[in-house]
Amino acid sequence: MSSIKALVANKTGDTVQAQVVDFDEANLGEGDVTVALEWSTINYKDGLALSGLPRIIQSYPMIPGIDFAGVVEASDNPAFKPGDRVVANSWGLSQSHNGGYAQKARVPAEWLVPLPEALTTRQAMAIGTAGYTAMLCVLALEHGGVTPDSGPVLVTGANGGVGSVAIALLSGLGYRVIASTGRPQEADYLKSLGASEIIDRAELSEPGKPLQTEQWAGVVDSVGSHTLANAIARTKYRGVVTACGLAQGMDLPGNVAPFIMRNVTLAGIDSVNAPTEARLEAWSRLARDLDLAKLESAVVEVPLAAVPDVAASILKGQVRGRTVVNLNA
Ligand code: NDP
Repeated sequence: MSSIKALVANKTGDTVQAQVVDFDEANLGEGDVTVALEWSTINYKDGLALSGLPRIIQSYPMIPGIDFAGVVEASDNPAFKPGDRVVANSWGLSQSHNGGYAQKARVPAEWLVPLPEALTTRQAMAIGTAGYTAMLCVLALEHGGVTPDSGPVLVTGANGGVGSVAIALLSGLGYRVIASTGRPQEADYLKSLGASEIIDRAELSEPGKPLQTEQWAGVVDSVGSHTLANAIARTKYRGVVTACGLAQGMDLPGNVAPFIMRNVTLAGIDSVNAPTEARLEAWSRLARDLDLAKLESAVVEVPLAAVPDVAASILKGQVRGRTVVNLNA
């Protein structure tokens, strides 16, 4: 047996436990490309998966981890050859297929994106699904016609992974960014990423009127629930609200007034099954538009064995920015 180091999740009753073990790479699963992994990361969804939420990991044992970056070791698909640097985000990883918390992965070629030259595998995981989703949100704002001249953009869940990367991206593109956070003590960090104004998330998290004073031309929302409803209610005429998350809740307690009276667009953002063209565009724009020094300022690095603890903390809103996992530490 050829063995690699992997974090493997098992379920007993309702409890999921994960530990680092020696794993036979013959059991990595189906796929035409084998990748030697260098870095992974910890997203909110990884926290949910390791908490045992039934809808994510569909069978056990499972190597969790919805993201990975590394170098192709072997390929039966002409699209990739040994030595190619690649990144993978979501698809079936950590759901129906072993994921990124291991030293190797075997996946269908369609799940891989060639890593742009400008990014290292570590930077790719500092971005991860959270950052790639932030880029999908920015692309949707642009697609909806929101420019820096249209007005400010609200970013909710500002200290989180999606929020941190969204702030850095938007400010780099010339937008004025209003950051909503429950951690005002992190104001200096948020300003260093590019936020111009910080608001307390309590301003948005309680029930509000469906139409409120217009404040922003665009929104990147990773929080959902009343926060999203209030964000929509304060969006300017012809503005665009991108909804990608549910950190406060999955509900959307509002009404249609902002859509039919202010021509507001609500754009849903899904990163998991996004088509390859959308991923290629997002990764090429990330390579072009993201300030890598700002990205690094948002990063904490941990070894594989630390993943379960960080995954628990991210669900409690205690993780700032992005965590990268060194798979060979
Ligand atoms: P993080 O945990 O890194 O960030 C979430 C942030 O939301 C926290 O840092 C916190 O920011 C804020 N927050 C947490 N709890 C609450 C609450 N109860 N009420 C209001 N705000 C809260 O997660 P990610 O950035 O990785 O993901 C954010 C969300 O986006 C998650 O719901 C995730 O599932 C979703 N997501 C969806 C994707 C998609 O494809 N649609 C892809 C990626 C993520 P602060 O302390 O600044 O207030």
